[in-house]
This record gives sequence, structure tokens and C-alpha cells, in this order.
Amino acid sequence: MKRIAFLGLGIMGAPMARRLLDHGLHVTVWNRKAARAAPLVDAGARLAESPAQAASNAEAVIAMLADVDASRTVWLGPAGALAAMQRGTLAIDSSTLTVEWMRELGAAAAARGIGFLDAPVTGSKKQAEEGSLNFLVGGAAQDVERARSLFSAMGRGQVHVGPAGSGAMLKLINNFMCGVQVASLAEAIAMAERSGIDVKLAGDILAAGSPGSPLVKMVVPRMVARDYTPNFLVPLMVKDLTYVIDTFRNAGIELADARAARERFQAAADAGHEHQDIASVVEVFRRN
Ligand code: NAP
Repeated sequence: MKRIAFLGLGIMGAPMARRLLDHGLHVTVWNRKAARAAPLVDAGARLAESPAQAASNAEAVIAMLADVDASRTVWLGPAGALAAMQRGTLAIDSSTLTVEWMRELGAAAAARGIGFLDAPVTGSKKQAEEGSLNFLVGGAAQDVERARSLFSAMGRGQVHVGPAGSGAMLKLINNFMCGVQVASLAEAIAMAERSGIDVKLAGDILAAGSPGSPLVKMVVPRMVARDYTPNFLVPLMVKDLTYVIDTFRNAGIELADARAARERFQAAADAGHEHQDIASVVEVFRRN
């Protein structure tokens, strides 16, 4: 596949589209706020005026959007991508979305003779820039094969989880753990501060010891340095945890810990950190 449309050029989408360009693919980009596309256009991408225009000549269309509302609008809304795609092409949504929506979109694509993959990613801004994302893919095996070169251009590869929706399911399970870890880390760092322990020392011990998951290792220095440069925005974590809570509830699991974590991130957003990194959730507990 050579002609690719990329829809959604945020923190993740822009570097992903850039990787495709760098691999010599013909990339047409679209973003709601068109100004965000400028660096990609400078690097050789074509700019489309609508998702439909971007999709009309593409062999594969990839979306990387904030949430289900954005994804629904971009794929199925007025000037949406799906209606403009040719039969036999491939639609891929790499945003973190719900299983229900991914199955619905997959069915809408199938009805038009278009392949569909839900392919959310693990990894963040840095991994998107360096091309080491991991794609968790739901859909038909032959479509996963067709998309292999795209996933390799944007990441270190893909895991075929199962049928449509299963990539989204595993991503939500993954982000449940991520959300709870970052919220509990914020409480731990705040407790160290309040007790008078050197916060850098406490952070180093947590990161080096049993609690030190790759995520904790990554977020500790940001909390200690109060560096909230956006990698993963606070409202997106609220969104993910909302999808997580609903998804688990449908399976009979009430997630008290995810609800508590969501409250923390919502409090951070309400306190003015909505344009900052999830590490800023520590500010909810800070006294100075
Ligand atoms: P972001 O920087 O906030 O970008 C969001 C994108 O969605 C932007 O292109 C934005 O367009 C677009 N958008 C929002 N609402 C829209 C609407 N109603 N109609 C059309 N476009 C809309 O977020 P991100 O960090 O790139 O994340 C994108 C997705 O990847 C999310 O689902 C997120 O959960 C997931 N994800 C993020 C990370 C991470 O570390 N950042 C990691 C893994 C997965 P505008 O520019 O016009 O606002």
C-alpha cells in the first residue's frame, strides 16, 4: 500500500504520519484545526480539506483521534471518510476507543466492502516519534497482513489480538492499569513530600524498586521536576478510564480503583491541568 490518508494530527497522530512520509509513502493528511498539518505539509504530505477528500484516493485510511465522538464524526459524519473510500481498501482506527464503537465501525466498513482494523497503540509521544509503538490489532487476519508494512513503519510491530474490537478491549485493559498506577504514584509522591522526605530520593526508590513499572519510571521524574509538558493529556486519561469502567461493568466487574483514579484525573482537569500531561495529577495532592 502506497497511498495513505492520515486523519488526526495531535500529539500521537502527527509523528505517526511523519513516519509514514519518512518511509516514502504518499500521505494525505487532514486535521480539524488545519494549522496543525503545516509541518507535515512542509515535509511532503498533501493537505485535504475534509476526511472524505483525504480518503477518496487512499488505499488505507488511518485515524488517530481523541475519542468516540471524534472518531464517529470523522468516519461517518458529513464529509466523513468511510463513504468516500473505495471498495477493497482498508480503514484503521488507532485511537483508544470503545469495543462497541469499533465493532459498529467494523460492520459499517464491511457493508461497503472495506476492510477494518481497530489498532490502538501502546507507547506514547516518544515511541510515536522514534517508531517503536506496538499496535494491538483486532480484525481479520488477511487485513492485519495487508497493514503489516504500515504498522512496521509506525512502530515495532503488531499483535493480532483477535476479531474486530479485541484490540480496543486489550488497550482498555492496559490503560486501566496505567491510570491506576499514575494516580497511586501521585498519592505516593505527595505523601513523601508531606512527610518531609526528599521527594527526589523517594521517586528514585519507587522507580528502582518493585513499584517501578516502565510507566512509573517514566512519570516519576516528571512529577518530581513538575514538568507537565504534554505527552498524554489529562482529559484523555479521564476518557480512557470512563470507557474502562463501562466496559468492565458490562462484564460484571465493578472497578472501584479505576473510579477513584478517574476522580483524581477529573480533579486535575477541573483545577486547570486539562492541557497538561497526566503527571500533573500529582498537583491535586500538593500543598505548595
Ligand atoms: P491529542 O493530541 O489531543 O489529539 C487529538 C486529535 O483528535 C487531534 O487531531 C484533534 O483535532 C482531534 N479531534 C478531537 N476532537 C475532534 C472532533 N470532534 N472532530 C475531529 N477531530 C477531533 O491526543 P493524542 O495524544 O494524539 O491521542 C490521540 C488518541 O491516541 C487518543 O484516543 C488517545 O487516548 C490515544 N493515545 C494517546 C497516547 C499518548 O501518550 N498521547 C498513547 C496511546 C494512545 P484538533 O487538533 O483539531 O483539536
